[in-house]
Amino acid sequence: MPPPLPSELLTLDREHLWHPYASMTHPTPVRLVSGAAGVRITLHDDTELIDAMSSWWSAIHGYRHPVLDEAMRHQIATMSHVMFGGLTHQPAVTLARLLVELSPDPLRHVFLADSGSVAVEVALKMAAQYQRGQGRPGRTRTLALRGGYHGDTLGAMSVCDPIGGMHAMFADSLPLQVFAPQPPAGYEADTADWEAETRALASARADELAAIICEPVLQGAGGMHIYNPHCLRVLREVADEHGLVLIFDEIATGFGRTGTFFAAEQADVDPDIICVGKALTGGYLTLAAALCTSEVARGIGRSEIGVLVHGPTFMANPLACAAAVASIQMLLRQRWQHEVRRLEAGLRAGLEPARALPGVADVRVLGAVGVIQLDRRVDVVRASDIAADNGVWIRPFRDLVYTMPAYVMDDIDLAQVCAAMVAAADA
Ligand SMILES: *Cc1c(COP(=O)(O)O)cnc(C)c1O
Repeated sequence: MPPPLPSELLTLDREHLWHPYASMTHPTPVRLVSGAAGVRITLHDDTELIDAMSSWWSAIHGYRHPVLDEAMRHQIATMSHVMFGGLTHQPAVTLARLLVELSPDPLRHVFLADSGSVAVEVALKMAAQYQRGQGRPGRTRTLALRGGYHGDTLGAMSVCDPIGGMHAMFADSLPLQVFAPQPPAGYEADTADWEAETRALASARADELAAIICEPVLQGAGGMHIYNPHCLRVLREVADEHGLVLIFDEIATGFGRTGTFFAAEQADVDPDIICVGKALTGGYLTLAAALCTSEVARGIGRSEIGVLVHGPTFMANPLACAAAVASIQMLLRQRWQHEVRRLEAGLRAGLEPARALPGVADVRVLGAVGVIQLDRRVDVVRASDIAADNGVWIRPFRDLVYTMPAYVMDDIDLAQVCAAMVAAADA
């Protein structure tokens, strides 16, 4: 049978496939990809687009990287998967050791999850079971920040921004959490009012609270919101004062994206649990992890059943672990700090012209993250069409046109990305 024609594939896609945050009854157009290499995506008609999204912030080394391809081939030749109950393997152990070495000292125990949302679920369970082990079973809620995003499963959704996360629609199925205000915008913003409100809220609700969760320094999918790292020190103090487990969700910010390996290093604060994902495998396969301290692990051991109640079918998938090990080792061999600083400078220069455009509310850059915020919702289809006409792939959301380029993107491609973003914002 001959392979289906592109037009047939697109028709079948429209008929049968859900896309992220999409409608089956009123689908928006999708582009058919035939390949990807380096920072370029090739469409079925041989159009090449520079990828400004790194496939949702994950493909930090670019596509079809020879080192990652070879690691995958090697692992396939060994085994693609075995169950993790009662068995273990070298890729999982090597990855765990790397993650423990790279994360703050007190974090020593690694749960390998199959996606970022699941890692967040596991972190929330760890915190609840830890509190039970401390003899505080009534402490089940999580203090989260407004404007945050932690994933799409129900537990993770419950700690997302209540309005952006559309809690009202799921009011009966979402656990009720406690929301602190969003930290004020700006890396150097005055945080005194935020701090007072957050401390008061935590004091008032301490008896119900098991944990605090936040995305350090940059709230990503909730609005690309950059805030003062000092807020993390405040949350650490609040957690210590009330016996709460502090969870840093570094799924978007980990692996150098904001200029430090983990964003929380900018505040010099250690969490009790850290979640990583997205760039963990260099964008090759889905994998995430929740790391916790020995104190948390001991508390879970003291809870009534003594074990952590989670164990996905594809836990610690060897192929995904092998990709992660290869990706992290390659990152450590490179001067990624230098590359991220180079991208930061390029983004600052390239996005600056957007500031003068009518309809642009803000332009901000942190590490290899560049954002143009408009004063209204972006017409996603129109904006991505205009960027594509300029040779660039972007996927705006809400009022944001943004990029998170691969660290290997050169200055010429980056300038084209910036120009295409400015053109999309202008329209
Ligand atoms: C993307 C993201 C998640 C969810 O990860 P998935 O792999 O999409 O489930 C959670 N937290 C943050 C901060 C994220 O950016």
